[in-house]
Amino acid sequence: MNTAPITPLRWADRGACLDSDPELFFPFSWEGLPAWHLALARRICQGCPVRVQCLTWAVETGEADGMWGGTTPDERRRIRATRERRAG
Ligand code: SF4
Repeated sequence: MNTAPITPLRWADRGACLDSDPELFFPFSWEGLPAWHLALARRICQGCPVRVQCLTWAVETGEADGMWGGTTPDERRRIRATRERRAG
């Protein structure tokens, strides 16, 4: 029997952002960020081996803060709204 503790975000241990400045992915505010800030974070996400898991988790849990899977909170809200509309 495996008695290792369950880690819900086990995939996050393989994230390309592990060694990045947390402020890059969790800025104090998304308003007024310089273009390079978003572009740099998105570039890291684009090369991330767990991007799909990250984005799926953030959308499905309603994660309201930070960049996950290359998306901002506003972008995830739009994804959820589109899914809800399609689900009827
Ligand atoms: S997709 Fe982006 S935010 Fe998610 S684990 Fe990978 S690098 Fe980090």
